[in-house]
Amino acid sequence: MINHLPDRLDLYAAAEAGRALRGPVKLASLVRVLPQLESREGELEVSLELGRDEDGTHYLAGSVQGRLALRCQRCLEPMDYPLDVTFRLGLVHSQEQMQRLSNRYEPLLITGEPASLAEVISDEVLLALPIVPLHSGVSTCRPPATDDQTPASSRRENPFSVLAQLKQKP
Ligand SMILES: [Zn+2]
Repeated sequence: MINHLPDRLDLYAAAEAGRALRGPVKLASLVRVLPQLESREGELEVSLELGRDEDGTHYLAGSVQGRLALRCQRCLEPMDYPLDVTFRLGLVHSQEQMQRLSNRYEPLLITGEPASLAEVISDEVLLALPIVPLHSGVSTCRPPATDDQTPASSRRENPFSVLAQLKQKP
């Protein structure tokens, strides 16, 4: 077990060699995840195991754990989100290989270049996030009461209602 994650790794070679790695990954390095987060401070704990199964499939199995700060879409306040994802990815070189992949794995298309681990981890974290983050069991979680304070004159017309009117005309 190597207690350090490199930025890039030749996944296929690492699977051939049966390597296992783990280490912290800074949230700030997960660029595609950042727009979903209230805070970029902190780290996730990542552990990866690479190998070849009995069918000869090269795989990357792993887990990502940590805490994320998301924005609740009801009260618009930050919410603490415990992340605990596990995944099993089958390494494939082509679409054809992807079709043949056992359904025990999600496909991960690899190129000849070493893969960015931050990219692989970002994909798994994004898949694990709730589509609409909402507090649960928090009594102060209520929609902010802004609508009532908006003067009627400043409300913009809903573009869809305009469209509906147009459609109704003969
Ligand atoms: Zn809330």
